[in-house]
Amino acid sequence: MSTPAEWDESRVRQLHDDLTDLHEAVESTSAHGAEGDPDPGEGVRQLVTTILSQNVADENTRRASESLFERYEDFAAIEAADQDELAETIRVAGLPNQKAERIQRALAAVREETGGAYSLAFLDAMDADNAKAWLTDIKGIGPKTASVVLNFTFGKPTMAVDTHVERVSKRFGLVPESASNQRAHEILGAVVPDELTYPLHVLLIRHGRSYCSARNPDCANPVCETYCDCEGC
Ligand code: SF4
Repeated sequence: MSTPAEWDESRVRQLHDDLTDLHEAVESTSAHGAEGDPDPGEGVRQLVTTILSQNVADENTRRASESLFERYEDFAAIEAADQDELAETIRVAGLPNQKAERIQRALAAVREETGGAYSLAFLDAMDADNAKAWLTDIKGIGPKTASVVLNFTFGKPTMAVDTHVERVSKRFGLVPESASNQRAHEILGAVVPDELTYPLHVLLIRHGRSYCSARNPDCANPVCETYCDCEGC
């Protein structure tokens, strides 16, 4: 059992190692982040796909993304599309009108920032905090979406806190139970060593999916014997 105050960098490193023993190692950056010099449109595609993924299962995100990029030939066409038609195209992702509006607003922000290009390459030159602030200034882009784009595309140390990461982090006492998602991003961003940002994100998701489901957790595993801080399990 541990309280949030007891978590420091060395304990987070130990947690990473113990999760790795249970779930197998994860590279320190995502495939795109490892390239260091991503395709100019890669970050924008990641941004659009991550907006589609908000509050929906991965399979629906994949189908909506396929449908979107099959229907429109480039980002300019997506931004210029009739919003109802765009919403219909991505309907399988859920909240289609809201997501269509967010996608078009985000594309407009990128185009205006660059003077016409659909590229987020300019974020690579910023530090993580400024890059995240630029993205989250766009209405509808929260800390999770911004963190995914910056970590997965540019390898920046921005931990994306999805539902699995948040649930397991709270049960381990890494993040207080009462913390908002925004606060969870801040806490994990401060305590997780930069190079463990991506692997720990993946490992916490694996742990959430394999053992620590929301309603019927399977608590008989060696990592949880050491780290779980929740009551009643
Ligand atoms: S002991 Fe159970 S509830 Fe606690 S983190 Fe592990 S799986 Fe989740």
